[in-house]
Amino acid sequence: MKMLERIGAPWKLVKSAHDLEEVDALIMPGGESTTMLKFFSEEGLGPAIKKFAGEGKPVFGTCAGAILLAREVSNPPQEKLALLDIAIERNAYGRQVDSSIRQGECPELASHPLEMVFIRAPIIRRVGAGVKVLGHSGELPVLVEQENILAATFHPELTEDETIHRYFLQKI
Ligand code: GLN
Repeated sequence: MKMLERIGAPWKLVKSAHDLEEVDALIMPGGESTTMLKFFSEEGLGPAIKKFAGEGKPVFGTCAGAILLAREVSNPPQEKLALLDIAIERNAYGRQVDSSIRQGECPELASHPLEMVFIRAPIIRRVGAGVKVLGHSGELPVLVEQENILAATFHPELTEDETIHRYFLQKI
């Protein structure tokens, strides 16, 4: 919300399928994907988000949000939206204390290296043929895109850099 305000983009919290009807794009933030799945089933949000994405509207998942979007989830396996053809491993760097800030590159989006905040982050283990890697940190893909779906394993809202959010907004 703070990042979107800084950029000057209007936002609204989406807590129900009805809320989703009032937005042009959706950001699924970080957090705990298992908890978010519980809200999904309570609010019927899973089918609503699939319909929303199926209409070509942009969806951006960061960290837990990226896990929710993936086609395959491991460590352990869980329910998913399967809107993005990647395999993702939860908590793949280790526990909370293994969280870190790393340097990464998004060559098509920015000419400068980006600071990337990984909090109990997942690792993308497989990238499908239709998925474009837009960002990497070391050898690992950390920002991927499949048409209207964007996913980051880091938290781009936690730095001052607006590159990633501006890129997502121009997909609307
Ligand atoms: N570890 C969390 C999960 O598996 C994701 C952490 C995050 O979103 N920063 O859902």
